[in-house]
Amino acid sequence: MDFRLTEADEDILSLAKEVGEKVVAPWAERAEAGEHPVEAYEGLANAGLTGMVVPEEYDGPGCTYLQLSLVMETLGQYSPAIAEHLNMSNCNLILPILKFGTEEQKRKWLPRIANGDAYCAFALTEPNAGSDNSAMSTSAVRDGDDYILNGQKCFISGAEYANLIMLFAVTSPKDAPKKEITAFILERDENTTGYTVGSPEKTMGMNGADANDIFLDDLRIPAANILGKPGDGFKAAMCGLNPGRTALSSEAIGVAQRAIDLTVEYAKTRKMFGKTLAAFQNTQFVLAECQTQIDAARLLVRNACVMLDQGQDAAMLCSEAKWFATETANQVVYRCMQLWGGYGYSKEYPLEQMYRDLRIFTIFEGATEVQKHTIARFMGLR
Ligand SMILES: Cc1cc2nc3c(=O)[nH]c(=O)nc-3n(C[C@H](O)[C@H](O)[C@H](O)COP(=O)(O)OP(=O)(O)OC[C@H]3O[C@@H](n4cnc5c(N)ncnc54)[C@H](O)[C@@H]3O)c2cc1C
Repeated sequence: MDFRLTEADEDILSLAKEVGEKVVAPWAERAEAGEHPVEAYEGLANAGLTGMVVPEEYDGPGCTYLQLSLVMETLGQYSPAIAEHLNMSNCNLILPILKFGTEEQKRKWLPRIANGDAYCAFALTEPNAGSDNSAMSTSAVRDGDDYILNGQKCFISGAEYANLIMLFAVTSPKDAPKKEITAFILERDENTTGYTVGSPEKTMGMNGADANDIFLDDLRIPAANILGKPGDGFKAAMCGLNPGRTALSSEAIGVAQRAIDLTVEYAKTRKMFGKTLAAFQNTQFVLAECQTQIDAARLLVRNACVMLDQGQDAAMLCSEAKWFATETANQVVYRCMQLWGGYGYSKEYPLEQMYRDLRIFTIFEGATEVQKHTIARFMGLR
């Protein structure tokens, strides 16, 4: 496989660097302080990044998932909390709409995502249904041309600000032999009732990227806003989660690469026992291993992206990429922090925040164990 970047890929990479410097970097500290980075999100939308993979026929730039990966890796170096915003629209919503949406739905929602008017969220997780989505209890009951939804979602990124939300609910009766999970698109505006958002979850890292509970209390959604048919919900969710796994992995790689780069520079200046930290063979071997592991993770992720771009079934590769890249990135930052000694642990230096920010990457968008479970299934292990 040829992993050389094309001219178009290089152009996207340059754009990502420019957006990283001009839009994300100025907001990184404010997001870390807990501020909602609304202007940074607007900047990402204005640069066309929120709807990168919307095809040209729906007014998008028609970028590839490989190009999205380049953007996520680059922006992850500036602020993974801000970069994560791109995941919701580009991964969780666009592909499900393309694969399951009617022509009318595509024409209605995709241009809005492409022009940045849509602030997207993806509401799958519930208090008693995380990895096991089949335990979902949010219900949707048909009432004329609408469905009425009741239940609770939790940990939903961007729930407070989102105006285009992919919501999942059970449409089969409680005593049905088979549970039917259905995907809805909620177009939320000031007239929406029955959608209440809880306070942002207090989390270890990724400050600024708020995740909230959503309480659904007789929320009405037109039946015309179902993606696919009733019962297609899980398939629709998965088709968004697979690219999401590559995008989040790319971000984690970006953070880890920055940790390595900063540690290389630090090791050249920090002195002990009459020589630099860089002169110790342990330092050289640790950093050589870290770089090799991150290069391997990057290749795995890019391979999965190319499969997605070719329209192939990339589910197994996306799972491989997700667990390997995110676990590797966490280990890399852990090992880099060790090389910084006490300064790595101090909030005065960047490693501490990277360590906290990266921790969630092995959990959301399918935890490591879930990815391994998926891979084992593809290997015929039951
Ligand atoms: C900051 C943040 C943002 C998030 N954003 C969103 C969002 O926007 N939308 C959304 O829908 N969700 C979101 N989530 C939810 C996230 O996807 C879930 O937290 C995740 O899927 C894990 O579910 P859980 O927390 O219920 O853990 P559980 O499912 O309870 O898992 C507990 C443990 O069991 C393990 N486990 C699960 N299955 C298996 C298995 N088959 N074999 C062995 N071990 C297993 C897990 O790996 C984990 O270690 C977010 C979460 C956080 C923290």
